[in-house]
Amino acid sequence: MNIIKSSKEMQNIVTILREKAKKIAFVPTMGYLHEGHLSLVRKAKEYGDIVVVSIFVNPTQFGINEDLNRYPKDFDKDCSLLANEKVDYVFYPDAEDIYPKNYLTYINVNKITSILEGKTRPTHFQGVTTIVAILFNIVKPQYAVFGQKDAQQVAVISKMVEDLKYEVELIISPTIREKDGLAMSSRNTYLSVEEKKDSIILYNTLKYLESEINSNKLISIKELIQNSINKINKVNTAKLDYLKLVDFNSFEELTNLQDSNKILILIACYIGKTRLIDNFIINID
Ligand code: AMP
Repeated sequence: MNIIKSSKEMQNIVTILREKAKKIAFVPTMGYLHEGHLSLVRKAKEYGDIVVVSIFVNPTQFGINEDLNRYPKDFDKDCSLLANEKVDYVFYPDAEDIYPKNYLTYINVNKITSILEGKTRPTHFQGVTTIVAILFNIVKPQYAVFGQKDAQQVAVISKMVEDLKYEVELIISPTIREKDGLAMSSRNTYLSVEEKKDSIILYNTLKYLESEINSNKLISIKELIQNSINKINKVNTAKLDYLKLVDFNSFEELTNLQDSNKILILIACYIGKTRLIDNFIINID
């Protein structure tokens, strides 16, 4: 496994690989890897001849009061996990390489970035699309693998790829969970023992909504959300940020269950000071 720090060197390597007609599958990450990330790497192996994983804690996607400075890191452990998966290249640039002092260019997808995550984190998606665009220009992948765990990120990046005509096929991989249902996340490491127990409320809320929706009862979205809020309010450390049902394709918020045949339920909830997100896709027969 090769560890590449310089973007120029990474670009030179992929140029040669592409001349040899190698298919490159790319997995962008912020490191502190867990089974969720590794599932993306395994998916990338199915598509590419060469797998490139980037590890870069992208400063532009963090708001000023967010956790950039304490975001967990363990580069050596990440490398041993990736070597185990037989990853070909780890791209591990410095912030100064990606964003030199005179850096001025930002990519912005409109509309779908101002709701949900974008409402609470107004500069987040601009940072995400900017780094993904830069990384795509460095790694030049034919395939890029992202997790459904970050559902809105998937929608925003898909739109950017479509609008900017990137020749990259996006592969979306399902959410990997702990045994109890908690979606794996590098941020779970912030949770105390009590908070870890409380954090199951995100999964339980999604499960509750899924079973109510599938039961075909004549219950309104308003009522479902209120019932969920009542359950969340009973959990000591939990404070709901948002809980919304949107149409999977349009990302338009639903007020009526009958208005969509593929519903995406999105939740963001603080557990203590840690903000966690999760989602379920519900196909209506
Ligand atoms: P991050 O390191 O948090 O930026 O995540 C890097 C990639 O891993 C993103 O595409 C995430 O959606 C994906 N990812 C994070 N957690 C999970 C999970 N539990 N299951 C599947 N994919 C995940």
